[in-house]
Amino acid sequence: MTKSTMKFKTEVNQLLELVVHSLYSHKEIFLRELISNASDAIDKVKYEGLVNKEILENDENYKISVNFNEEANTITVSDNGIGMTHDEVITNIGTIAKSGTKEFIKKLKEMKESGKEKTEAEMIGQFGVGFYSAFMISDRIVITTRKAGKGNDAVRWESNGQEQFTIEECKKDGRGTEIVMYLKEEDKEYASEWRLKEIVKKYSDYIAYPVAMNVQKEEKPKDEEGKVIEDAEAIITIEEEILNSQKAIWKKDKKDISDEEYNDFYKHISHDYSEPMERLHLSVEGMLDYKALLYIPAKAPHDLFMKESKIGISLYVKNVFIMDDCKPLIPEYLRFVKGVVDSSDLPLNVSREILQEDKTLEKIKKNLVKKVLDSLKQKKEKEYDKYLEFYLEFGKLIKEGLYSDFQNKEKLSELILFESSKTELGKFVDLKTYVKNMPEEQKDIYFIAGDGRAAVENSPHLEKFKEKGFEILFFTDPIDEFIIGMLTEYEGKAIKSIGKGEVELDESEDEKKVKEEKKKEYKDVLEMIQSKLDEDIKEVRISNRLTNSAVCLVADENDMGANMEKIFKAMNQPVPKSKRILEINPNHSILNIMKSLFDKDKDNAKIGEYAELLYDQAIIAEGGVVKDPVKFAQKFSDLMVFEGNKINSEK
Ligand code: ADP
Ligand code: MG
Repeated sequence: MTKSTMKFKTEVNQLLELVVHSLYSHKEIFLRELISNASDAIDKVKYEGLVNKEILENDENYKISVNFNEEANTITVSDNGIGMTHDEVITNIGTIAKSGTKEFIKKLKEMKESGKEKTEAEMIGQFGVGFYSAFMISDRIVITTRKAGKGNDAVRWESNGQEQFTIEECKKDGRGTEIVMYLKEEDKEYASEWRLKEIVKKYSDYIAYPVAMNVQKEEKPKDEEGKVIEDAEAIITIEEEILNSQKAIWKKDKKDISDEEYNDFYKHISHDYSEPMERLHLSVEGMLDYKALLYIPAKAPHDLFMKESKIGISLYVKNVFIMDDCKPLIPEYLRFVKGVVDSSDLPLNVSREILQEDKTLEKIKKNLVKKVLDSLKQKKEKEYDKYLEFYLEFGKLIKEGLYSDFQNKEKLSELILFESSKTELGKFVDLKTYVKNMPEEQKDIYFIAGDGRAAVENSPHLEKFKEKGFEILFFTDPIDEFIIGMLTEYEGKAIKSIGKGEVELDESEDEKKVKEEKKKEYKDVLEMIQSKLDEDIKEVRISNRLTNSAVCLVADENDMGANMEKIFKAMNQPVPKSKRILEINPNHSILNIMKSLFDKDKDNAKIGEYAELLYDQAIIAEGGVVKDPVKFAQKFSDLMVFEGNKINSEK
């Protein structure tokens, strides 16, 4: 058969058009694509060799070579894989079989048409366009390939990537495929030792076969004693260097990997110098087919809470690096987990967009989340101290999970910790222990939210609860109150703010009777106080939760609490206007004093003044800012003057 010229199929032409004219960033992926094809071809010959040893032609020294020639401006990638016959070259290289690539062409065209050039750069790196990507950097490509087990009759394919290619028969020593790329003028830089090495390392480090390069070495000769002869001329030798580590550690058997090897790999991928807290090496087969090696760090990276913070998991397909920051593989709140997932169910040329909706990845993700959460739970049970260290670094993210991952609510609720009215500073309690320690008469789980331990610890709201021996969780992290929006109960016990609604602390019949009487007795004066504070307060009532303090403010059951309001304001969010309730301690003498003032003369101006003072002190007690500080200060000094005069006159 002589040389024949053939036209590419229309869709190949479209793809080539795009490759040549539109793809200009991430050109380096061409090498990843060619090496992966070579690796596939070796897989195939190895596999067929199992049943038909002859096709191996006594060459089981599998290898992929990457070489370059700076003068000729070429790069050559060759393999001793399965090779292709004449017809195979025409079908395999002349058509696009993969739906992913077709999708890619469609997307790129749409983007071009809508003028969204910018996103292109982001997309390209994630796409492989297979063999054709070599035309990004080449004017002309020559493929010489010889099918394994078919003598030395080979095929030579050549094209400049424009509409047509030629194909002819030729001879070739050894089976496999050799691809020579004649580089475009502007892409000369790729014909360089360090550049090629760098690209191989980045994308193809874990390819299972050696990727070799013939490297020129210049060395001065040595004398008989092995000393370098300084004034001799250097001798140039060519040495074959293996560029990739071939160590897809996640593919190895667990028992063949030492702790040191595991940790080295962690450091390599995470850029973290400390040892990880935990590792999970998973090998899943069956419906889903993937391997994963995940690490839970012990220390948080500095950018964990920054916008640019990335997902710590990279995706590989059959040892080939596809992308880092693989969002479809792990929810954002688990972004601290580092590692790799290698799936053989995916094509190489997948885009981020396609991956977003990929069902396989969705299932893998579900699996990974379960594994990670289970492992954290185990840590907490078996090595609490280590867990605590982890929690101090990453606890916020676990809470973020409670807020965002509804499906795993239960698991996550086992993982959160709080300081409480019964823990020392810096010590924590979890919900399980909290519930276990609840006195029998306690029905609900209680918390108080505020700015920090100091702000909540001595809050008047706690008084009655403490007296009864009830534990109160301290919600001192701004996110804490948000998660209660999601986690309203634990083990069937409601989680309630002690700063909200009426507290129903179990009271005896006698206590209830006394309270009813007090309500009646003080009804009029409470209404008067309310009328003075009407602008800010929705109700004034007798309190159940105070023992020492005179007053406190509580939110209505369904309103936003004071702490939440503060958080919203800090985030510049609109805060719904809601008035709160002023509760007065019925056993505090201030209430009696107000009542007698009122009974004597209900128009006494002091009643209004005292009402304001009560309100102000309730605000101060919860760490708030009084409405009119100057006025407050004045009233306060008036009281001091008054009391001071009284003391002086008594003397
Ligand atoms: P993909 O690898 O996703 O199938 P490519 O465009 O990279 O798509 O390659 C197209 C086809 O060309 C491959 O499926 C394979 O059949 C053939 N091919 C490419 N490179 C080689 C090679 N080095 N050896 C043998 N066959 C190859
Ligand atoms: Mg390919």
